[in-house]
Amino acid sequence: MESLSRERVIRLADTPHCQQKSILSISSDAYNAMIQHMTSFPDMEVCGILLGTKTAGSTQIHSYRRLRNVAHDPLHHFALDPQEWIDCCYQERELIGLFHSHPMTAAIPSSTDLQQLPAFAAMISIYAIGSLVASSNRSDNQDHPDINTTPINVYQINQSVNPSSHPLPIYNLQTAQLNIMTE
Ligand SMILES: [Zn+2]
Repeated sequence: MESLSRERVIRLADTPHCQQKSILSISSDAYNAMIQHMTSFPDMEVCGILLGTKTAGSTQIHSYRRLRNVAHDPLHHFALDPQEWIDCCYQERELIGLFHSHPMTAAIPSSTDLQQLPAFAAMISIYAIGSLVASSNRSDNQDHPDINTTPINVYQINQSVNPSSHPLPIYNLQTAQLNIMTE
């Protein structure tokens, strides 16, 4: 029996330095669109953008738009089609996040993802990663039994001042909680 709540709350693993976890709401349409995109292409990293709104205490994602992955090795990497990405940056006023999938590994940021983060971080505040591998392996994860329910992890992009004199800010990812709105 479904509870009266219209939200399905999914908690993700804490990061060790997590202070206060952000809560993001996503429409079930947008969530399912990401799932459908990555399950349709299990042999490559798929990518796309998240559209939504952000106000003082809440972030809402209402839709997902697919972008082309133009990486030479799309099984292990993603590279947004440059023209599509530029169009999004100019045309999509509600550009709020980036999504890509990991066909072979769990839905946690790779070292390459972290290296690439500064290329996008100024334009977005949400970083989402999906993995079909992780969702099937998570049944043995007794520490976080509720993590089984989602193959998508979402992270809030935080910006901190660079302690050195380097002019670029430092970005890091903080695990966020995702609420799927079932209408
Ligand atoms: Zn990745």
